[in-house]
Amino acid sequence: MTDRYAVFGNPIAHSKSPEIHARFAVQTGQDIQYERLLAPLDGFAASVREFIRAGGRGANVTVPFKLDAYALATELTERAQAAGAVNTLSFDGEAIRGDNTDGIGLVTDIVANAGQAIAGRRVLLVGAGGAARGVVLPILEQAPSSLVIANRTAARAQELVAQFGGRLQASSFDDLQDEFDLVINATSASLAGDVPPLAPALFGRHTLAYDMMYGKEPTAFMRFAAQHGAAVRDGLGMLVEQAAEAFFIWRGVRPATAPVHEALRLQLLGQ
Ligand code: NDP
Repeated sequence: MTDRYAVFGNPIAHSKSPEIHARFAVQTGQDIQYERLLAPLDGFAASVREFIRAGGRGANVTVPFKLDAYALATELTERAQAAGAVNTLSFDGEAIRGDNTDGIGLVTDIVANAGQAIAGRRVLLVGAGGAARGVVLPILEQAPSSLVIANRTAARAQELVAQFGGRLQASSFDDLQDEFDLVINATSASLAGDVPPLAPALFGRHTLAYDMMYGKEPTAFMRFAAQHGAAVRDGLGMLVEQAAEAFFIWRGVRPATAPVHEALRLQLLGQ
């Protein structure tokens, strides 16, 4: 029987996950079905339980349910615990296993795909929302020489510093004046076409400026960083890599991500 998977969100129509997993399945010869499921805002747990009853084997979880998925899981991986959020669920009898693949997706896209080491480098993480939280542990595991976090609401950055026992430092935007090797934009500012208040001096020709958002055009953050000499990259690769890690958790097989990334890019560009 074909194994069933789904992505839960609200809204969900825009999700590229079904297409990504369909491509992975064809490529690896795995017999799976993967659908989009719109859960009511107050009905995430009930929707997941119904899916389990109907034979669901696993699910991805997107906005706004990653915290609900964390609460629903009966077992959590270390990286899900560190993130305080779950984007991948696996169902096994009574057990609901929660994992978070966003961080490893980002790190794989930067290190393996973009060829930019994190080990020994100075890293700036901008933002302290759900996406930023999810990537702190996987970045620290790469052993950067420093990890600095800056957020519009300083208290949220301080919370992350406290959670990770001082393995990262918080800074105000004003105090940031030195060049970084890697600047990761984990804010949602790009959704509104805005750029966080970053000094041009943070960017140079050795900097990779990474925006977790992606789209047809480079984001305002990417354009700003490029104007000041940085190499730039958007979050489409992160999206594909977090999906590949979920596929591996469920199926024990690692799909090749490059052809899927390329196909999605061409689609975004309307080609
Ligand atoms: P949250 O709503 O949890 O957090 C938003 C963050 O952005 C907060 O730190 C907020 O600061 C900051 N922010 C919002 N507007 C501005 C602004 N104008 N200037 C400066 N800071 C701002 O969102 P998420 O963390 O869930 O998502 C962040 C981004 O990451 C989104 O664009 C999302 O699409 C992307 N993402 C991409 C993924 C991928 O696979 N490529 C996966 C997950 C997320 P404050 O605390 O002060 O409000």
